[in-house]
Amino acid sequence: MSVIDDVLAANESYAARFNLANLPMPPARKLAIVACMDARLHVEEMLGLKAGDAHIIRNAGGIITGDEVRSLIVSHYLLGTQEFMIVNHTDCGMLTFKDEELLDRLRRATGVSTVAPATFHAFSNVEANVREQIQKLRSHPWIPQSIPVRGFVFDNKTGRLKEVSAAETRRSTA
Ligand SMILES: [Zn+2]
Repeated sequence: MSVIDDVLAANESYAARFNLANLPMPPARKLAIVACMDARLHVEEMLGLKAGDAHIIRNAGGIITGDEVRSLIVSHYLLGTQEFMIVNHTDCGMLTFKDEELLDRLRRATGVSTVAPATFHAFSNVEANVREQIQKLRSHPWIPQSIPVRGFVFDNKTGRLKEVSAAETRRSTA
């Protein structure tokens, strides 16, 4: 039995006790979050969120690309979210490789180059990465300046979130 079969069995019992059928589509807390996909991050639990409270957009590294901007624009303009949050974390897998190494490995393994992905957005400093993502959103012409965009590093050892100041662009931190 595959793990997908296992989780489908879990869904049977979930559906049997499901009571969220009447939640409104717009997030109740008017919050949108871009977080790393790391399996250890329980985003709802770390932030005290329930189903229906927030949009949670996840990818490798908690990176802002065109697709995250797309989702956040839908989130704000169509579904009313008013604050954006970026969540990276310690011990992130994106710290463990370089884009060029992975691209080389894939080209060698498959014998072909591709148009996309052209980059994997690996990074060497989590706080600097968070700042960069904040800046990408802050500078986008379709993201209103009235929306707070705040970034955080989740500490995998303590469960605590530490805010990253958007301004410290030149300080090098570990
Ligand atoms: Zn990560």
